[in-house]
Amino acid sequence: MSDIIVQKYGGSSVANPEKIMNVAKRVTSYKMKGCDLVVVVSASGDTTDELIELAHKITDDPPEREMDMLISTGEQASVALLAMAIDKLGFEAISFTGAQVGIITDSSYTKAKILDINTKRILEELRKGKIVIVAGFQGVNLNHDITTLGRGGSDMTGVAIAKVLNAKMCEIYTDVEGVYTADPRIVPNAKKLNRISYDEMLEMASLGAKVMQARSIECAKKFNIKIHVRSSFNNREGTIISEEVDSMENIVVSGVTLNKEEAKLTICDVPDKPGLAAKIFKKLSLANINIDMIIQNISRTRCTDISFTVLKEDLKKTLKVTKKIVREIGAKEVIEDQDIAKVSIVGVGMKSHSGIAAKMFEALASKNINIEMISTSEIKISCVIKKRFAEDAVRAIHDKFKLYKVRTIKE
Ligand code: ASP
Ligand code: MG
Repeated sequence: MSDIIVQKYGGSSVANPEKIMNVAKRVTSYKMKGCDLVVVVSASGDTTDELIELAHKITDDPPEREMDMLISTGEQASVALLAMAIDKLGFEAISFTGAQVGIITDSSYTKAKILDINTKRILEELRKGKIVIVAGFQGVNLNHDITTLGRGGSDMTGVAIAKVLNAKMCEIYTDVEGVYTADPRIVPNAKKLNRISYDEMLEMASLGAKVMQARSIECAKKFNIKIHVRSSFNNREGTIISEEVDSMENIVVSGVTLNKEEAKLTICDVPDKPGLAAKIFKKLSLANINIDMIIQNISRTRCTDISFTVLKEDLKKTLKVTKKIVREIGAKEVIEDQDIAKVSIVGVGMKSHSGIAAKMFEALASKNINIEMISTSEIKISCVIKKRFAEDAVRAIHDKFKLYKVRTIKE
């Protein structure tokens, strides 16, 4: 057998019959070059959103097992259509659901984790010379019930199949040309990155750059699977996501991201004594609430304020839990703020350069933007600001670090 290539096509790449034919042409052109191909496909266009909406028209609280039964159907339709398109071009293809190729997952419906993939059937069909098409986003648990892998989960399917087949490359086809220094809709002179490390991509995915599912990048990092994110609408090279190489450090900041999906809560006048932060965050974690940033400074009086951010969709639940905590620990009140945005810079070069935070703060200061919260990690700095300044902030930071300049990273 020749080298195996895994290609994953996102929903926008198979949004209508013409686009499906376009994907079929691309796939068969690789086949003509002599590659063995496994193609993973998402549901077309907004199908998954529409199916979710449909379920909510029936009930506010659909059983999760049935939800997966429903939303996995989008991918089943696209694999069959792509197989037909490839057949029309005179090539042999065969489509499979996750269950058919033995993508075994745990039972956490709507966010299942892959436990194992049985490569037998895929390899059999590849040996017969067929193009194998696999439905993304879905698997099956040990009871044969259908599960899904979380939104954007077709990326996970692609990366996991690349891993078990020892594929040379995993190509992720989408409607943008790769990973950019910032969202080009906000920063028109943003530049496409030719390379980025797993860690940077992981940060960028979690910070709001919606190019790939964060979990799939974790998996790629763990097994060192090279990923090429590129457009399905042209032949230009996209962005390679790989392990960090030394030369990446020469570029201090790789990207600026923006996240408007969070809300800030402040618990005021928390008595300043040991154990209270533990108590607060334990209760929140028991309620399954994911906390992002946390700020607390030691007080100069006997009380202190604790601020933290959560996903907006968790705000209601968080407020309920937090109000109860306030009463229990004798704090004064909880204040919510939904009018926030988080801007961040990401780059592995930060590890070895100084003055990066100051430069970011200067960019914000130059636009008179007040910083409400700051958090840092080895390769990231995030600032919470008022939402109305969000886009200006991204542009100012992008400019300050001159990310519009052509950037090349050599291996
Ligand atoms: N169709 C699923 C979703 O929209 C999976 C995917 O697109 O990767 O989340
Ligand atoms: Mg999708």
